[in-house]
Amino acid sequence: MSGLSTLESGLIRAGGTLLSRRGAHASLLVLIYHRVLPVPDPMLPAEPDAAAFARQMDLLAQNFVVLPLREGVTRLRSGTLPARSVCITFDDGYANNFTVALPILRKRALPATVFVAPAYLDGGCMFNDLIFEACRAAPEVLDLTGFGLGRLALAGTTERLRAAQHIVDQWKYLPREERRQRAEHLAERVGVAPPTDLMMTGDQVARMPREGIEIGAHTMTHPILARTPEGEARDEILESRRRLEDITGASVLSFAYPNGKPGRDYAREHVNAVRDAGFELAVSTSWGAATAQTDPFQIPRIAPWDRQPLRYAARMVNAYRERSFACA
Ligand SMILES: [Zn+2]
Repeated sequence: MSGLSTLESGLIRAGGTLLSRRGAHASLLVLIYHRVLPVPDPMLPAEPDAAAFARQMDLLAQNFVVLPLREGVTRLRSGTLPARSVCITFDDGYANNFTVALPILRKRALPATVFVAPAYLDGGCMFNDLIFEACRAAPEVLDLTGFGLGRLALAGTTERLRAAQHIVDQWKYLPREERRQRAEHLAERVGVAPPTDLMMTGDQVARMPREGIEIGAHTMTHPILARTPEGEARDEILESRRRLEDITGASVLSFAYPNGKPGRDYAREHVNAVRDAGFELAVSTSWGAATAQTDPFQIPRIAPWDRQPLRYAARMVNAYRERSFACA
């Protein structure tokens, strides 16, 4: 059950058809997910649990046309996209994409693309996730004056969540090695071992294409490309494609920029590097719908999350008329 009444469903479809005409003036929505949790996690309130994700997928299957990403972009550009077209994507390569999301997608025969940073497969953990785990387990007062972040009061989950997000925001744009070392130092101080089951195994990634899921590349180690020396950035892009092709035995033709904000997280040189590496398309995190005029190497994406199904659907429909920005 999608959670929409027949009347609400009718309104969403009518609105969607009105705002996303088929053919030459069509627009395409690409949804971005990260994790799908087996059960709700108060430290990760933006991530749907299995039940919420299943409701969202029912809503998509019943009211929208869900296409594989590459087909969606190809048909957008050739003027043959149906009205109310949507693509589903996941970033980073979390294990629960395989264990939780995949069965829900398969049951509804919905296609999706999972963008994987292969350096973290088989037991790795990204710096931001380590910070969240550290803040989850930290004592009630966490002294981070050594990092210029003062003393943080972590009385409840809200404070822990806010502190984790604040530290991630403060460290995100540091050199990759430094932010990793800081996160490891923080985890060690609060006695947290980096989780080893957060990301997919190579075997799980290899099985995805056989289950109707496209594997896309997301760089090797998820650096902010705009803060990475040019040669290193090119290697990150190219090597992630090679590594994932080795794992899956299939061509990897889609790419997602880490963090994904045009101009801030990636620049024109990275768009060119992605095209030169042999990819067919790339996605950003600029909010909006793609049109036939959108650069296929800077396809925007949206995260219309709302627990209330009608609001979720209405945010999606509204996004059809929102135009994204991109690197010139
Ligand atoms: Zn990512």
